[in-house]
Amino acid sequence: MHPLRNALQQALADQPELLKLAEDYERYYQLVHQATGIGVWDWRLDTGMILWDDPCWEMLGEAPSTQPLSYVDWQQRVHPEDLARVEPIVQQQLQSGQPFIIEFRFRHHQGHWLWVEGRGQVVEKSEDGSPLHMMGTHTNIHQRKQAELALVAQKEALAHSNQLLEEFAYAASHDLRQPLRMIHSYLQLLEKGLEGQLSDKNQQMLTFALSGADRLDSLINALLEYSRVGRKGPPNENYLLRESLEEALSFLAPDIERTQAQIDIVPGPWPHLNACRDEMTRLLMNLISNALKYTQPGQPPRVQIRLSTSEQDWVIEVCDQGIGIAEHNLDRVFRVFQRLHPASAYEGSGIGLAICRKIVERHGGKIQVSSEGENQGTCFKLTLPRHLDASRSG
Ligand code: ATP
Ligand code: MG
Repeated sequence: MHPLRNALQQALADQPELLKLAEDYERYYQLVHQATGIGVWDWRLDTGMILWDDPCWEMLGEAPSTQPLSYVDWQQRVHPEDLARVEPIVQQQLQSGQPFIIEFRFRHHQGHWLWVEGRGQVVEKSEDGSPLHMMGTHTNIHQRKQAELALVAQKEALAHSNQLLEEFAYAASHDLRQPLRMIHSYLQLLEKGLEGQLSDKNQQMLTFALSGADRLDSLINALLEYSRVGRKGPPNENYLLRESLEEALSFLAPDIERTQAQIDIVPGPWPHLNACRDEMTRLLMNLISNALKYTQPGQPPRVQIRLSTSEQDWVIEVCDQGIGIAEHNLDRVFRVFQRLHPASAYEGSGIGLAICRKIVERHGGKIQVSSEGENQGTCFKLTLPRHLDASRSG
């Protein structure tokens, strides 16, 4: 019998109504315990005795006991790696009197380790303020913890395999360029050496081979650029994002002039960001250059650049009034080498938006596209988390 129950029975022996009330209360407490599986512990700091209720023992596959545990008994049941973490927290909370919540592993009777959430708080202090009595609970969190750990392991494995893939893409594109250049050079030499000697058909085949090699070179180059995003580039810096926009526009100045584009920048408070400046410039440049490119022939592009803010993000929109994108194609445009138009209509390698997405996601943001449909213009929306805001972090 639990010593507390024993003491209550003796104290209330001549007051049956109160004893009944105490028993009802105990039943209620047991029902709650059965339903939740939570165990309650009771630690007397003056005597060093720790009492566990039945669920505390049962959780560890042990027969319930009313025998108190010593502090050493408790230590021996806790996983050594966790003990080093748990003990200082408990000591600290004993001093401060604050409640604590800790996750740690207990040795199960069958030999394996069981994840438990321990909560506790000082419930009684001596006159000089030193803690006398602490109480708390044990909850079996093994399943949840296993799922959490599996998720962390999966995330790590995914990050590792992504890194390997990126390294592969980088190495492949880097190493493929050299032999390709050789093929290209020898084809050119062949063309020169055989000048005037080839039939029209053979000359045409050589021209096809040369332009194929050119195209392959630009694709490999695009892939190399894609895999370089975030790779040992310059570190993040604190700067005014508006400067990236100015830079992007100055790089695109010849195209803007040639197409007689009208660029409207809706005034707004541009943020100071902690970000990779080159990448941000490239991001805006890719979006604006698409807005200049994908218009009806002969129609001067009209581009609007807006900036707004929400509770959590900075939102930048680059919208055009160009050829638009059909709804069923919207989610294709961010994929590597996906183009909706043949190179004969609009030049490009289909990597620009994939690079944009990589840059935005690397900075913890999102990129979305919307269009009312063909010839209805297109709008790209970037959301960058406000925690990149350098002026906020000081
Ligand atoms: P590059 O790698 O030189 O940028 P690209 O422009 O073809 O080549 P992306 O920028 O990735 O490649 O764009 C992918 C495709 O999405 C484009 O080929 C085009 O079909 C479509 N697209 C992109 N931006 C727009 C836009 N503003 N309006 C209409 N279509 C667009
Ligand atoms: Mg592009």
